[in-house]
Amino acid sequence: MDENQNELLKIVTQVRGHLEYQKALGVRAISVSSLIDHKADDAPKKNGNSPNSRFANTESEVRKKPSSMNWHEKRIISVGPSFLDSINEDLRNCTRCKLYQDRNTIVFGEGDREAKLVFVGEGPGNEEDQLGKPFVGEAGQLLTDIIVKGMKLKPGEVYICNVVKCRPPNNRTPEPDEIAACEPFLRKQLQTIKPKVIVTLGNVPTQTLLKTKDGITKLRGKWRDFEGIPLMPTFHPAYLLRNPKDKVLVWDDIQKVMTKLGMKVKG
Ligand code: URA
Repeated sequence: MDENQNELLKIVTQVRGHLEYQKALGVRAISVSSLIDHKADDAPKKNGNSPNSRFANTESEVRKKPSSMNWHEKRIISVGPSFLDSINEDLRNCTRCKLYQDRNTIVFGEGDREAKLVFVGEGPGNEEDQLGKPFVGEAGQLLTDIIVKGMKLKPGEVYICNVVKCRPPNNRTPEPDEIAACEPFLRKQLQTIKPKVIVTLGNVPTQTLLKTKDGITKLRGKWRDFEGIPLMPTFHPAYLLRNPKDKVLVWDDIQKVMTKLGMKVKG
C-alpha cells in the first residue's frame, strides 16, 4: 500500500469509528461539516515526544504546520485528540443508565490526550466520584506507584480512564446494562487517543474490550489485541491491595509493556 492509500485508509477508519460511535449514541443522521469543522490549528501534535519523554521514538516524523497541510492531513488531525472534548460533552448530564441516580461526578478520564500508554480500570469509587478524577483512592495510589516508581513516568504522561464513568453504588461491579451504555464512550476514547499500548486492570475492562468471559487470572500477562492496539491485561490495583503477593505478577506484566514501548527495564 502506498502513502496516499495509507492516508485514505486512516481517514476512512476514523470516519467509520466516528459514525459507529454516533450510531451507538442513537444518532441517525450526521452532517459532513460536523466531521471537518474542528479547528486544525488547535489540535495538539500526535506522537510527538517531549524532550523529557522516556519513550523511545520509534517513528521518524516531520511536524508540519497546519497551514502547510493538505486537506487530507488537516482532516486527520481534525478528528484527533481534541475530539475527546466532544466525547466528554456527549456524556454531560448522562442518564443513559441507572448509575446517574447516585453519582456526584462523571469521571471521564485524565492524562496525556496523546498518551502512548492508556490504563483502563473498572469504574469510579467514592473518592473518584467526589473529585471527578480516576484512580485517586487507595487503589489509585498503588497505580500511581506502578507508574511513577515502577515505570519512572510522570502520572501525566499516561492516560487513565474507566469502563463506566459513574460510580456504582457501594462500589459494586458494574452491571452488563451499565457497561453496555458506557462502552461506546470508552471505545471512542481509545480510538481517539490511539495509544501504542493499552493496559486493562482486572476483569471488567479486560472482558469488555476483548469480548470474552475468561477471567483475568487466565488472561493476564499475555499480549492481546484491541482494534490493532496491543493490549496487556493485568490485575486491578484493588485486587493487589488484598493480595500483595501478586504484585510481582503485575510487575512482570508492566515490564512487558515497558519493553513494547521501548522503555528501559532494569533487571
Ligand atoms: N478508581 C477508579 O477510577 N477505577 C477503578 O477501577 C477503581 C478505582
